[in-house]
Amino acid sequence: MSLVERAARERLLEKAKASANACRLCRMGSERRNNVYGEGDPCARLMLVGEGPGETEDLTGRPFVGRSGQLLEKMLGAIGLAREDVYICNTVKCRPTDPGPRGPKNRAPEPGEMANCRPYLDEQIDIIRPAVILALGAPAAKSFLGKDFQITKQRGRWFEGPQGIALMATFHPAYVLRQTGGELEGVKRMVWADLKAVRDKLAEPPPGRAEPGPEQVGLFGEGA
Ligand code: URA
Repeated sequence: MSLVERAARERLLEKAKASANACRLCRMGSERRNNVYGEGDPCARLMLVGEGPGETEDLTGRPFVGRSGQLLEKMLGAIGLAREDVYICNTVKCRPTDPGPRGPKNRAPEPGEMANCRPYLDEQIDIIRPAVILALGAPAAKSFLGKDFQITKQRGRWFEGPQGIALMATFHPAYVLRQTGGELEGVKRMVWADLKAVRDKLAEPPPGRAEPGPEQVGLFGEGA
């Protein structure tokens, strides 16, 4: 990817981030501390899409920086990728909360909130044009594949995502963190299988090219 193209994408993302930051379509827009637009390589071949920011993300304005984020980084590391190599974002850019006795507590984003935020996600996909989208967890998967998507049955399969981009769903890192004992081992095995499939898909030559280009080879590091 040329430096000129990279700079152009960075500029587009900055502009898009500013409009997401100004958005007040949902009440979340006025309740959150920071808009968590997304971050990463504007030329990434892999885009990860989670559900929505939690407390740490809201505080920092960065996606996946809490416990789930730490596990996500380990998951990426297992296929030879660093956080900086990919683009990370969420279906909604503001933290959805309900009032709680000790301050706001996380809740799942409502379908209307996801719909309001969708143009921002679509714009990110448009600018970055990743080769692969990995949806993390059922809500993110459903936002792309419809409400009948079943994460336990359909994770690990390839679907056609927005703009024909290869899309897979796997378990959300927060779900993995909630498992214990035998369940944990089983879920880890499934996530590992999904990640390997993502790694293999990324290693495929882009359409119209016989061999992976140097940037693809360099990205993964052999033996990962
Ligand atoms: N969970 C998500 O879905 N997204 C984040 O950014 C953090 C935790």
